[in-house]
Amino acid sequence: MTAFKYNRPKGTQDFVPPQSERKFAVEMLFRELAGLYGYREIVTPTFEHTELFIRSSGIASDIVTKEMYTFNDRADRSLTLKPEGTPGVIRALLENGLRLPYRLFYIAPFFRYNRPQKGRYREFYQLGLEALGEASPLTDAEVVYLGVEFFSRLKITDCVVRVNSIGCRSCRPALREKLVSYLHTHQGGLCPDCNGRIELNPLRVFDCKNPECRKTLAEAPLPSNHLCPDCQHHFEVFLDWLTVLGVKFEVDASLVRGLDYYNRTTFEIISSALGAQISLGGGGRYDYLIEELGGPATPAVGMAIGLERTMFSMPEDQAAESRRKLVFVVWTSEKEFRPAWELVNRLRAAGIPAQLSYDRPKIRHQFHLADISGAIVAVIAGETELLRGVYGIKNLKTGEQHEVPVNEIVTYLKSLIGG
Ligand code: AMP
Repeated sequence: MTAFKYNRPKGTQDFVPPQSERKFAVEMLFRELAGLYGYREIVTPTFEHTELFIRSSGIASDIVTKEMYTFNDRADRSLTLKPEGTPGVIRALLENGLRLPYRLFYIAPFFRYNRPQKGRYREFYQLGLEALGEASPLTDAEVVYLGVEFFSRLKITDCVVRVNSIGCRSCRPALREKLVSYLHTHQGGLCPDCNGRIELNPLRVFDCKNPECRKTLAEAPLPSNHLCPDCQHHFEVFLDWLTVLGVKFEVDASLVRGLDYYNRTTFEIISSALGAQISLGGGGRYDYLIEELGGPATPAVGMAIGLERTMFSMPEDQAAESRRKLVFVVWTSEKEFRPAWELVNRLRAAGIPAQLSYDRPKIRHQFHLADISGAIVAVIAGETELLRGVYGIKNLKTGEQHEVPVNEIVTYLKSLIGG
């Protein structure tokens, strides 16, 4: 054998079975739940014009300054692999003239050039949704509730919801003024990145993970203490409604989230699985983004959930089958190949997953293949059995063997695999 030569690029992952099947099940649950709340699926391109992300996520955001996979195509257009879902959805909403309000969800891979570690990848999947054209704080609460419901259906029980309000266009200027002057007087305690943010986008300092900056910001003026009456009201109704919905939450006054387009509500769903605090999902309101991207002034709120982090926060499924719903049909000599093949076709037509070996005439080899395929049962099409009008059955989980009449095989296998 030649030496193995290729590795996957840093920060990417393979989903091999059964992980790929678990991933599919999680996606299906999200689809089902989003559908229950009236969201419809949207699929947008994997890359967009770079400008779209600069305009939406913000020129000073980490995503834009450090993390985008940007390249020029052969016609010298600047394109970017999407680092997040919302901008593409808005672009598609406007380009396709969808009538508002509209609830949309998506499941897609996203790309960010960051330092890979457990739960942080350069390609990762998000399950996201956007309620476009809805202004009520009750929508914000319902979006959070849907996220919580999703995790609870997956038996992820250690979730905490953190919420905040970061105000609107009318309360921002006063906050900005106070924050900028605070940051100027505390410049020495801020990292070079945060110093650069003071004039460009001071709210972004709250994203900084640097412990020194965190200490400096402990006394900084906070958005939620500078809300105008309308934002205050929106925030209170949002919190009240979370309580009505039975969602446990904590107000986190420094939660601004890493993107520029949020206003009013921001939230994060955190899990303490694996000892560390990890953000499983988050989102917020973005009432100005659609207008900024050339559409009519339209309120909106959204959420994105990380699929990989969800998957490793899920408890190992104790009841997980070591065998899968598959029937492996074994033929004992060339003469039985044809009836075996016909049986496989009959089973498939009846909705029962079935397989047989085309390559290996030796029965011993076929049993080996049946075993490594993970099939739950082998059906043996043997000469003596067929003459007596029966199939041999070997349960590959228990090793138990018996016979089933030819005309009862479909019913028998259906009840065995629960199909
Ligand atoms: P964000 O788009 O940054 O608000 O992230 C929303 C969710 O996506 C996070 O809570 C994570 O679960 C997930 N996520 C974000 N970035 C990554 C990444 N680099 N690798 C894996 N999951 C991520």
